[in-house]
Amino acid sequence: MTTPNDKLERSIHLLVAANRILANEGVVDAYGHVSIRHPHHHDQFLLSRSLSPELVTAQDIFAYHLDGRAVMENSPNPYLERFIHGGVYKNRPDIQAVVHSHADSVLPFTISQTPLKPVIHTASDMGVEVPVWDIQDHFGDTNLLVTNEDQGDDLAQGLGEHKVVLMRGHGFTAAGRSLMEVVKVSVYLPKNAKILMDALRLGPVKALTAGEVEIRSKVDPKSPQMWRAWEFWCSKAGIAPGSSQDL
Ligand code: MN
Repeated sequence: MTTPNDKLERSIHLLVAANRILANEGVVDAYGHVSIRHPHHHDQFLLSRSLSPELVTAQDIFAYHLDGRAVMENSPNPYLERFIHGGVYKNRPDIQAVVHSHADSVLPFTISQTPLKPVIHTASDMGVEVPVWDIQDHFGDTNLLVTNEDQGDDLAQGLGEHKVVLMRGHGFTAAGRSLMEVVKVSVYLPKNAKILMDALRLGPVKALTAGEVEIRSKVDPKSPQMWRAWEFWCSKAGIAPGSSQDL
């Protein structure tokens, strides 16, 4: 019989796998992080302590309140930017998983006037438009990091109902209805950015249409095609994929 603790353990395993996948795919390096909403407490999320995603194990995962406070007293050093996650979960009850990344290929689109549009079918989950959030708009000169609840809330406002928000001179934050969905968009967003950058050198570019994005959004995140990608990424990252039922 499945107990609530089993469910929590399996969720933590998948979150560890997501950390390893994102590191192995080059989406995160020493920095960047991925979280899931707590499977039993809608007003908490699970996130590693401050650690490079490649090194994260189940013992490093801790629960946080949506305002960024650790649930457990004396829990180890948290990520400075955990407020990104809390802000998104607070403002978007539909969101189950969040990724924050500094992927290089996305950065030019955070500082220029050229919009990051979906141009490859695998990146359609990013949506037709990706807003750019500038921390300076409401907070003036900062270190550009999202280090308090107000900044996290403001970033979540910038995300709005989108899947991805770019962060000026910093990176991106992606939000998913499932862990699988947010990992997929985070893996393909930097590839899309690189391909768009290459294509812009060739001349005018045709992006996916709103209709194409809409049709592709109907793919079930728990479908066998999605599980195939998850298994592949886990195999490359050297970690067990867990169960498709839990993704
Ligand atoms: Mn950051």
